Amino acid sequence: MRYALVVISVPVRALDRIFTYRIPDEMQGRIDAGMRVNVPFGAGNRVIEAYVLGLGDTAPIEEEKIKPIAALLESYPVISRRRIELAHWMQKEYYSTLGECIQCIIPKKVKSKTYKCVYLDYENTDISVIDGIIAKNNKQSKVLDMLINGDSIPISHIRAFLGIDTAPVNALVKKGILKIEENEIYRGNYNAARAVKSSPFTLNREQKAALDAILSDDTRPVLLQGVTGSGKTEVYLQAIENVIKAGKQAIVLVPEISLTPQTVDRFVSRFGDAVAVTHSRMSDGERYDQWRRAAGNEISVMIGPRSAIFTPFENLGMIIIDEEHEAAYKADVQSPKYDAREVAEKLSALYGCRLVLGSATPSVASYYAAENGKYRLIQMRERINLMPPEIILTDMRSELEEGNRSIFGRELLAAVGKNLENKKQTILFLNRRGYSTFVSCRKCGYVMTCANCNVNYTYHKYSNSLMCHYCGAAAPVPELCPACGSKHIRYFGTGTQKIEQEINEYFPRARVMRMDADTTAAKNSHAEILDIFRRGGADILVGTQMIAKGLDFPNVTLVGVIAADLSLNLNDYHSGEVTYQLITQVAGRAGRADTPGKVYVQTYQPSHYSIQAAVNGSYEDFYRQEREFRSLMCYPPFTNVFFVLISGEDEEKVYRTIMTLYEIMQHYNKNGAFKLYAPTPAALYKIKRKFRRHIMLKCDDSDKIKSFVLYTIEKLRAYMPVDDVSIIISLNPNYSF
Ligand code: ADP
Ligand code: ZN
Ligand code: ZN
Repeated sequence: MRYALVVISVPVRALDRIFTYRIPDEMQGRIDAGMRVNVPFGAGNRVIEAYVLGLGDTAPIEEEKIKPIAALLESYPVISRRRIELAHWMQKEYYSTLGECIQCIIPKKVKSKTYKCVYLDYENTDISVIDGIIAKNNKQSKVLDMLINGDSIPISHIRAFLGIDTAPVNALVKKGILKIEENEIYRGNYNAARAVKSSPFTLNREQKAALDAILSDDTRPVLLQGVTGSGKTEVYLQAIENVIKAGKQAIVLVPEISLTPQTVDRFVSRFGDAVAVTHSRMSDGERYDQWRRAAGNEISVMIGPRSAIFTPFENLGMIIIDEEHEAAYKADVQSPKYDAREVAEKLSALYGCRLVLGSATPSVASYYAAENGKYRLIQMRERINLMPPEIILTDMRSELEEGNRSIFGRELLAAVGKNLENKKQTILFLNRRGYSTFVSCRKCGYVMTCANCNVNYTYHKYSNSLMCHYCGAAAPVPELCPACGSKHIRYFGTGTQKIEQEINEYFPRARVMRMDADTTAAKNSHAEILDIFRRGGADILVGTQMIAKGLDFPNVTLVGVIAADLSLNLNDYHSGEVTYQLITQVAGRAGRADTPGKVYVQTYQPSHYSIQAAVNGSYEDFYRQEREFRSLMCYPPFTNVFFVLISGEDEEKVYRTIMTLYEIMQHYNKNGAFKLYAPTPAALYKIKRKFRRHIMLKCDDSDKIKSFVLYTIEKLRAYMPVDDVSIIISLNPNYSF
């Protein structure tokens, strides 16, 4: 082959094309699709990085104009052909450059690190000689002690571990007992020795049915809806066992928050060294090592958050996405803004592998897909060793009416007191998600809402006004409640700190811990706080959604949901869904087989269907009403919502740009094919010195909407310079920006 087709690794849309380079003689036969190369680029022939997509024998332009490849960066492909196909798909799906997509699929480039290692040369050493040295009990014997299992260990590790210099090691090398080698040592390897070996449970009837369905010939994705404690994880484990036996590999995605040692241990104790783990606190080097182990077929299972979906298993047999409803599976910030669930579906098609989506509270989108036969729905309703908790609703409006101005209802306070006496643990959960402030009446619970969109107004401090982030409608903050005339209008913003303070006032002797974004900023502190609490180091844990999921606290018998309305009042059409999920999950934390748990759900809107359904434990009730709301108001999954966000440091320029784009869109949307909404400030109007405004569009056909948006952005570029602002587009985002 004489030519290589490459894509350059620069996130510039104008250069998002395929370029042809000549393969120099010395690289003939060594170059293949998926390899990384350096190429001279542009008039100045600046050397930049590129990926080879394919090889060819014909030149698209005159031979003299084709430049040669400058260097081959590795001797192996960093991305497989099927994953190049995935990159092409992502490029289209997420409006990114091909280079960006490839960079997203492969790890940040890091050279693997080699160490000078030593090992015991059993083959050429007499055992009696080794025994003789060990018996001396000196520095040399300590070194041999470390190597006696046949490991190859970096000399630097031995020195650090024993607190010695290199002399004893060198002496042993001189005697011919130790041999030196250069080794690539994997960083961040999970210590399998730590976990106790576990064997599979005998599955109960529901679990068996679920496993059979997963392994059946029907290759559609499975939506596994199982209440907390129904034994989903055991089903995953046995499904994976099957995959490994067939010589294939599996990816398990979990929300970062459930990547606690507990979860990981369950997999490691079943599969030992065959499992590797990635998480966001890993260094690039550690991540690269895991990636190499996967590519080299050294492991069979990868557990990790969203980005683990790109684990380079070429024998992929199964993908499991636990807690599939989690917003964290969608990349909302960096480009490409991929959704790991969608990528999983694509991979499952490319590799012919199974896909299992598990949750106690499936996302509306997935349940809808199951309803339409795109997914198979499998339900597990029995709990294995958990009693369903008793859920009690507290109407905070009547608490106020009866003179209780505290953030705690009287019943909850009494229950906390009793729990302290009984030496049981309590979780106080603040249902806070997102960042917007809503405005409500504390007397009647009325929330200021946009009549056009049926989503809550967001309070904007900078203009002291209410604004709808969907249609742009604005209103002043009323002095009196439009529903009941009361003066008790509040901007909602109870914080965990305030809860901690108040609880300390009521129960000065209680040991209270707080877990929120502030207290967990440091590396590992999240796991530490949970660990201390689990071991009984505190009586009460106050926290946000971080404590809601996948955690196991045997001694917690009481859960208080302080303000269930908080998540109900996001300025977002997902708010009903998020609320149902959060209450259900946090309630699942309470109680055990011997001590049933109690959950108090405090709310100003006790009749809201999300809260009612969560209290009654009925997903179907919730789904039926949510579906009706989405369909009536034209929200996904019934239609597609598209956001175009423009941000920049020049406030005036951002405003002018988005208004111009809006006019262009109006012009090309004369026939009204798209529902087009006027630009509005984003919920987070200013982040990191940048001002942000966006436009919302709705249309049933997501491809049409995408090409319309791209077309109008091209027109905008032709009309005015837009280099000093960034334009971000997003289809059905988790949250409105
Ligand atoms: P989920 O993931 O649905 O919340 P888990 O898989 O964590 O449920 O199971 C709940 C508990 O029941 C765990 O402690 C697990 O070890 C145990 N368990 C699961 N399946 C079985 C079984 N078939 N027999 C006995 N115990 C089981
Ligand atoms: Zn509106
Ligand atoms: Zn009112």
